[in-house]
Amino acid sequence: MHANPILLGIGQHPLLTKSQDWLKRLPNLNYLHFGSAEAALERIAEYTEDQAPLAVVMISDRLSDLSPTALIDPILTDHPACQMLLLTNQPDISTLGQSELAQMHPLQIVSYQNPLSFSHRLQNALYQFYTLSQLQNQLRHLEQQVTNLEEKLSQKTTELIKKNLDLQKLSTTDTLTQLPNRLKLDQYFSLQFKHCQRYHTPLTIMLLDLDHFKQVNDTHGHQVGDEVLIELAQRLSNNIRETDLVGRWGGEEFLILCPELNQDHALTLAEKLRQLIEIQPFNIVGTQTASFGVATLKTHATEDSLLEAADKALYEAKKQGRNRIIHANNLL
Ligand code: GH3
Ligand code: MG
Ligand code: MG
Repeated sequence: MHANPILLGIGQHPLLTKSQDWLKRLPNLNYLHFGSAEAALERIAEYTEDQAPLAVVMISDRLSDLSPTALIDPILTDHPACQMLLLTNQPDISTLGQSELAQMHPLQIVSYQNPLSFSHRLQNALYQFYTLSQLQNQLRHLEQQVTNLEEKLSQKTTELIKKNLDLQKLSTTDTLTQLPNRLKLDQYFSLQFKHCQRYHTPLTIMLLDLDHFKQVNDTHGHQVGDEVLIELAQRLSNNIRETDLVGRWGGEEFLILCPELNQDHALTLAEKLRQLIEIQPFNIVGTQTASFGVATLKTHATEDSLLEAADKALYEAKKQGRNRIIHANNLL
């Protein structure tokens, strides 16, 4: 709970001296008086430490030590709702009202020549202080709410982005082998096809299919067959370039996309992969082989025709006895 707001008188103005008794008796306010501006600036902190706000500061215009401006600025920085009354002996307050000081600060001027206006001005200043404080509190509260909402929104956005990425990954990943699935292969193929066609660079695709894989399932069971597919997926992805992409095309068939790879290099890579499957036996099932259909981008090819060519080459490899590589360009 905040302490009572402070009413502060500074300087030896007769209005302050004359009114000090009733100033002290004003309810729910704490009246303090300092003889000089410096003393006030030095000691205000002591009284406002327990969060007592400065409500109204009444300053004599005849302060000898500090100009009213030097006093008002620091006070308003710490107590933005504080109201200022400038007490003067000058008969004509209209000139003071136009002074630089009055232009710079929301200042009410009280002349000794019209002492009745003092209590009226003070009441007015107190009313403005309470209204302004209330508004400032409401504003602070609203700002806090906005900050909280912004934090929540930013958290939710981060969560959504992550979920979206997870979903995207999930929708383009084959659950058994964790390789890219057909959807991802289609996307990457389309992208690379356009790129290679535009820049006249080679693009090779390879379809590989395990030979007699049905027998593996029939002999050892579907689960063992699954393990073979997982092991094969690892061997393939560990032996291609970063710019290549291997994915599961379906069943025991895999597609490898190799941008920048011409026919000769493609055949070398396919041979390396063929040996990688044949030479090292698979767990439980032993030696396995695969057949490869390879096709390299030519002018006038379309995505479909390139895939069709690889498929035909694979079919031919199967037909010619399996465990071999056929390049579509070598077909009639
Ligand atoms: P070919 O040499 O002509 O390719 O003979 P194949 O037996 O490999 O070909 P076929 O098309 O007759 O059979 C493919 C087999 O692959 C049958 C199917 O059960 C198996 N297969 C497809 N997907 C999976 C899978 O996710 N897990 C397991 N374990 N087997 C699968
Ligand atoms: Mg097969
Ligand atoms: Mg097949």
